[in-house]
Amino acid sequence: MTAKKIDGKAIAKELREEIKATVAERTAAGKPKPGLATVLVGSDPASEVYVGMKKRMCENLGMASFSHTLPADASQEEVEGLVKELNADPKVNGILVQLPLPGHLDEEKVLQAIDITKDVDGFHPVNMGRLAQKGRESLFVPCTPDGCLYLLDKSGTELEGANAVVLGRSNIVGMPMALLLVKRNATVTICHSRTKDLKDLCAEADVLIAAVGRAEMVKKDWVKPGAVVIDVGTHRIDDETKEKGYYLTGDVAYEEVSEVAGAVSPSPGGVGPMTIAMLMRNTLRAAEIQQD
Ligand code: NAP
Repeated sequence: MTAKKIDGKAIAKELREEIKATVAERTAAGKPKPGLATVLVGSDPASEVYVGMKKRMCENLGMASFSHTLPADASQEEVEGLVKELNADPKVNGILVQLPLPGHLDEEKVLQAIDITKDVDGFHPVNMGRLAQKGRESLFVPCTPDGCLYLLDKSGTELEGANAVVLGRSNIVGMPMALLLVKRNATVTICHSRTKDLKDLCAEADVLIAAVGRAEMVKKDWVKPGAVVIDVGTHRIDDETKEKGYYLTGDVAYEEVSEVAGAVSPSPGGVGPMTIAMLMRNTLRAAEIQQD
């Protein structure tokens, strides 16, 4: 069997085009551009790259972006003060605090300071709490797991009653992913570093989400024939035989898993492009909530 490739790059491009068209319609009707504010504390190079990508994506889709950088030693009051200013600014529809924050800052308090109608990352405890409650809807869902769900839907994966395994339980990926799948009536097993019989549990899954942060850990014999596998992992592996001196890979051994799975999202080219597209969709949604 050769698995169908779930092409996140193409699916994200299509979604971005839809978002761009909706933004253009809104601005043509005289509404303000949806605006995303980013808050970066310190100068972590990877975080600077991510914030730069988000700014460029806003511009490409006709949205406004406002970048704020505070020094690495900014106090809790300064960071929360900036968040409160952005809460009050009508040009700003979405606020994204780039994580991780420097260790001296209380991340939970900073996230809690964000107005929930502007919480486009979906990490505010109220939005996360609603995700965990039956019959409640969060205003925004964290972008990476929401992107995984979008890929599952676009690939026609049946979730109702499916046996889903989520490998990883982080606040930003694994846990919200599991909650989203439960909301869609899948039967969900959450695996983590203390899980026994990891491979056997994964091999029972109709839907397997790999968000473990270990390069190519999920092998062929971890996957049930015909299963749908979503690879969240992103790794840069040094390799002098490659032109760039490295290659990118995911948590799944893509080639061998493709021999048994029904469908697999590759990494790179799967969840990565979806995450930023979902952030743009959330920013548009925030503008709709606040302006319509
Ligand atoms: P994380 O916070 O490090 O969480 C990893 C999870 O995997 C934890 O729950 C951990 O268990 C579990 N784990 C680690 N080693 C394990 C092992 N040997 N066996 C079983 N479970 C194990 O990572 P994350 O932030 O969720 O990210 C996961 C991966 O996704 C990373 O590769 C990251 O780069 C990637 N990512 C990609 C995107 C994207 O947009 N494409 C976005 C976010 C993250 P414990 O809880 O017990 O420690």
